[in-house]
Amino acid sequence: MITVQEAQEIILKQKLSLGIEKIPIHAASGRVLAADILADRDAPPFDRATMDGIAIDTNHFNPGIVYRITGMQAAGMPQGSLLDPNDCLEVMTGAMMPKGTNGIIPYEQITIKDGLATPKLGSVEPYMNIHLRGTDAKKGQVLIPKGTRLHAATIGVIAAAGVGNVGVATMPRVIVCSTGDELIPIEQEPLPHQIRNSNASMLQAALRQVGIQADTKHLRDEKKTLTAELEKLKDSFDILMFSGAVSKGKFDYLPEVLRELGMESLIHGVAQRPGKPFLFGRFDRSLVFGFPGNPASTLICFHTFFVPWLLSQQGLEAQSAMGELDSEIVFKKSLTYHLLVSIRYEGSRAIASPIANSGSGDLIHLGKADGFLSLPPESDTFNKGSRYPITNWRALL
Ligand code: AMP
Ligand code: MG
Repeated sequence: MITVQEAQEIILKQKLSLGIEKIPIHAASGRVLAADILADRDAPPFDRATMDGIAIDTNHFNPGIVYRITGMQAAGMPQGSLLDPNDCLEVMTGAMMPKGTNGIIPYEQITIKDGLATPKLGSVEPYMNIHLRGTDAKKGQVLIPKGTRLHAATIGVIAAAGVGNVGVATMPRVIVCSTGDELIPIEQEPLPHQIRNSNASMLQAALRQVGIQADTKHLRDEKKTLTAELEKLKDSFDILMFSGAVSKGKFDYLPEVLRELGMESLIHGVAQRPGKPFLFGRFDRSLVFGFPGNPASTLICFHTFFVPWLLSQQGLEAQSAMGELDSEIVFKKSLTYHLLVSIRYEGSRAIASPIANSGSGDLIHLGKADGFLSLPPESDTFNKGSRYPITNWRALL
């Protein structure tokens, strides 16, 4: 059976050609920029006042000077002029510096009486309290490079450059398919032998965290209907994401049906716990992620295999964070052991405390975990204080 790392390498090689799309800037958080954003003007675009006070010509300053206030330059007013260097204009933060002025004495450092401003300071510097034109960027300069994953701050910069519709890498269209005859919709009252279909909502939420709005579909454990449904879905979506029906059970028809429909099976079984029966394959135009149905397996596989694929598909690298185990764990099988943990931060250290649980089907304890540590197959004993790859599933976008 292949290792987690081998499985990840196989998955990362599978790219889809999804192209780019234009979306409104307010919807672009978490998306990856498809072309450089250039400055359409200098930044700041004019010599800009950074204080409220009086605009003066610093070359004519002397310690005893008393300025006549001859006008006002507020933010949003076209540029005015100071006609006599022995006078001054009141100026507000964000305003253009008036012609003939090259410095601001803030209100805090003057007294004003009868239209006259008397400085309290003994000397001034040219350009004091001015944010000079083009200091931060010149027209035509790259402000945000192609390939950047956008967030509120970069979106602010793009908006300032006047781009309202932004070109980004297209996200895959994902369908979440839950499988299993024991499952019923969550609004329905279950009979004793029934289980609510919680994985569909869980996967939709996980996808939402990475910026994907997915449809869901429920499939019966019945070969004929499964075949008919999948026949339709395989060309309508970029990613077919399954929970359940990939193990060795009598009714786990999924691997067989997908293969019969032409899926190239690239992974079936990974040396890990939970999530051993994980299935991955490819149709001409879509990829299949088949997660085992136990809720912990489903979510751990989502983060271990789908999230890195999505990042790589968009030209991004997965962040590899490490977490520190706060108690000893013994696990003797040569499998990667994904250990559910709560995570607390001490400075830059992520400290992980194992969550006691009754196995991958334990949905209640899953809800107490912030994520998981992936303990490598080579060791049996994992000491308190040792560090391993950690996934914090609360921290994603
Ligand atoms: P499977 O991988 O289909 O063998 O399912 C393994 C276990 O996960 C079974 O106990 C299922 O009831 C449970 N399970 C499968 N799919 C879901 C789902 N969509 N929501 C909640 N539990 C599920
Ligand atoms: Mg099942």
